[in-house]
Amino acid sequence: MTVPSVDLAAPNGVKWSQPVGLFIGNEFVASSSGETIASIDPATEEVIVSVHAASAEDVDKAVKAAKTALKSPDWKLLSGSERGQLMWRLADLMEAKKELFATIEAWDNGKTYHEALEVDLVEAVAVIRYYAGFCDKYFGQVISTTHQKFAYTLRQPIGVVGQIIPWNYPLSMATWKLGPALACGNTVVLKAAEQTPLSILVLGELVKEAGFPPGVVNFINGLGKDAGSALVNHPLVDKIAFTGSTATASSIMATAAKTLKNITLESGGKSPLLVFKDADMDQAAKWSHLGIMSNQGQICTATSRILVQEEVYDDFVKRFIETVNTTSKVGHQWAEDTYQGPQVSKAQYDRVLGYIEIGKNEGAKVATGGKALSIGDKGKGYFVAPTVFTEVNPSMRIYQEEIFGPVVVILRFKTEEEAIALANDSIYGLGAAVFTKDLERAHRVSAEIESGMVWVNSSQDCDPRIPFGGVKQSGIGRELGEAGLEAYSQTKAVHVNMGNWL
Ligand code: NAD
Repeated sequence: MTVPSVDLAAPNGVKWSQPVGLFIGNEFVASSSGETIASIDPATEEVIVSVHAASAEDVDKAVKAAKTALKSPDWKLLSGSERGQLMWRLADLMEAKKELFATIEAWDNGKTYHEALEVDLVEAVAVIRYYAGFCDKYFGQVISTTHQKFAYTLRQPIGVVGQIIPWNYPLSMATWKLGPALACGNTVVLKAAEQTPLSILVLGELVKEAGFPPGVVNFINGLGKDAGSALVNHPLVDKIAFTGSTATASSIMATAAKTLKNITLESGGKSPLLVFKDADMDQAAKWSHLGIMSNQGQICTATSRILVQEEVYDDFVKRFIETVNTTSKVGHQWAEDTYQGPQVSKAQYDRVLGYIEIGKNEGAKVATGGKALSIGDKGKGYFVAPTVFTEVNPSMRIYQEEIFGPVVVILRFKTEEEAIALANDSIYGLGAAVFTKDLERAHRVSAEIESGMVWVNSSQDCDPRIPFGGVKQSGIGRELGEAGLEAYSQTKAVHVNMGNWL
């Protein structure tokens, strides 16, 4: 049964017709159980709209649609160039609706409208275009062996790909996964995060409008324990690509092992940012602020552990706190001057405030923040003050555990060796930043830090052309860049005997 869209008007005046069904086979259909999940505005705690939630039966329907599309000549026999054209069209359609997408991202996620428009949407469109360009430029090799024989390799799609994304960058996370999967000719069932399904469903409308055959791209909303788990367990799914917490990544890996599914995991982090005594202190303070406080601190690569050489510790802390107090204006996601909106959900709000209490009880000093803020109407909204802890030691939970909010810890170190040891004292290894003017030190330390990415005199740079991913418990595999294509294709070797030779 198809489900009609619901007319919505956001607080910034943008109006549209929001699909609320499951996007399967290019149609918006009802969930088999009729169950829905409410999308909430985290600034007001009011329901925006309720969206159908997939059961295991619906997941089965979506996977079968993807399997049929994989074999269909309408998709399978498209040339790389033709696939690329579909993707270019999708990117153009997304760009034409960028204000609508930014509105939706701001409304159900709580991020600021201007950041959604200027950062998330720019990136999402760029990722689809980047991978569209690869469609007809990614192929196998011819390998000479003897005079009579040779072999060639084919790059073939992995098959039906299940993709599971988090709520912190809904559209960006979707495009990071869709871009390389479609470029390589796979078909997809993507599960949105239950907190933020709205932009993904509007993207479904554009997938259809761009001309993708039915079943190539399917979008479902649903709880992780139901829809997510059914996707990971499904025998017709050949690969799972997941972004989310390390705990969920670990359980997905265990489940995927049963059917030996190919996996890519992007999980949590507790990324260090090192400030050496020769660093430009203004730059260090500016990037340290952006590195933890942007996107409400809800960034997997957030540089949430700041390590500062003792000679410049006091100077850095003073400048950093000044930057936090003057830049991190907390407010509604629609206001031009808001830097930090509400946390995405009540669960995240409680989690962040819980960690702030843990830090206080562990004996760390609250240098600024350390509390909830009352900004919304009638005290509503999940607002947290940007919080800086000093007097922290590495055995504290606030040093070791991912908080995923606007909370940072600052420690001092004496030597480069100590800084590297502190940086690597973590189960995680996603990002890391190094502030120094010493060229040799910058590269030496970058090589020694256990992480998938390092920023020198910067934090959070991200580009479709650059591989993204973690080591240790921050993940397996890479997204973005050419490396992202490797996760979505497999190599077949064809041996050719040109005569009757042994
Ligand atoms: P989460 O793991 O609870 O949920 C992420 C997604 O997984 C959601 O779509 C959820 O529905 C689904 N899910 C939950 N349980 C599942 C299960 N048993 N089987 C299948 N799917 C399941 O994470 P979260 O708390 O929503 O997101 C925050 C976490 O995500 C943080 O730890 C953060 O570091 C991480 N994250 C990582 C990256 C990265 O690229 N490394 C990016 C963004 C967020």
